[in-house]
Amino acid sequence: MSVRLPPPIRLLERGWLSSNSVLLTGPDDTALIDSGYATHAGQTLALVRHALAGRSLDRLLNTHLHSDHCGGNAALRAAYGCQVAIPALDAARVAAWDEEALSYRATGQQCPRFGFDATLAPGMALMLGGLRWEVLAAPGHDPHALLFFCAEEGVLVSGDALWEDGFGVIFPELAGEPGFDEVGATLDLIAGLGARVVIPGHGSAFTGVDGALARARARLDYLRADPVRNARNAVKVLLKFLLLERQAIALAALPQLLGSIPLVERVRRAQLGLAPEDMAHWAAQALLKAGAARIDGAMLHDV
Ligand SMILES: [Zn+2]
Repeated sequence: MSVRLPPPIRLLERGWLSSNSVLLTGPDDTALIDSGYATHAGQTLALVRHALAGRSLDRLLNTHLHSDHCGGNAALRAAYGCQVAIPALDAARVAAWDEEALSYRATGQQCPRFGFDATLAPGMALMLGGLRWEVLAAPGHDPHALLFFCAEEGVLVSGDALWEDGFGVIFPELAGEPGFDEVGATLDLIAGLGARVVIPGHGSAFTGVDGALARARARLDYLRADPVRNARNAVKVLLKFLLLERQAIALAALPQLLGSIPLVERVRRAQLGLAPEDMAHWAAQALLKAGAARIDGAMLHDV
């Protein structure tokens, strides 16, 4: 059953390669939160144009700057001349387009360069789509990630900080930075909001926020108990992302392909301690077991 959202809020739900986008249309303004992955930018433009029904887009905001959340920024800014607002802590790296610091190089993902016009910081309040939204910090999955919360309607836009079943990979831990405590603190913050509906970065909007928080906490405990689990999950997620992008990958090419992704290579050496061939074999099998891929002859296919 799909969750009813207040009329100014439209969820443009996507497959997992592209994040969801949230369109806010008020009497006086329009805004979009997150813009999907680069290879879907044309689809993003079409979805947004259709949903806007002839109106223009005034503002574009990002929960965080992973490639699947801001890959349509450049196209939307070019199409609408909209004001782009990003987390303030990422401003310098976006201004310099430092692909290393922005994670695109480390993850082997693409994101067209975009400019920005404003920055967002925790504690700010914004009027978007005729509703008042608080900006909150959501470190953990990404150290600079933000939440947008509309207290009046009890709606939380959570990005990858909370999904109906879990949350995004805890990336800082993979680079030897703290992340588990931050995820816990972000879940505590969300619990204190008393949100009625959560619009996650991936998947459908959901109610039953307490249940989602309990599942997320159990997941956090599981990962924290053995950080190699977070590392394995990261390799699986990054391979699934590649597969979503390419649709099929030759199994013979997998060790080298995974080795070309700096973050995966780092995790392989530092945390998994596997030979490239063994990790490639394990990762492909892990996706098969999860029903997230299939093998046909010499190729690994997306499902
Ligand atoms: Zn993310």
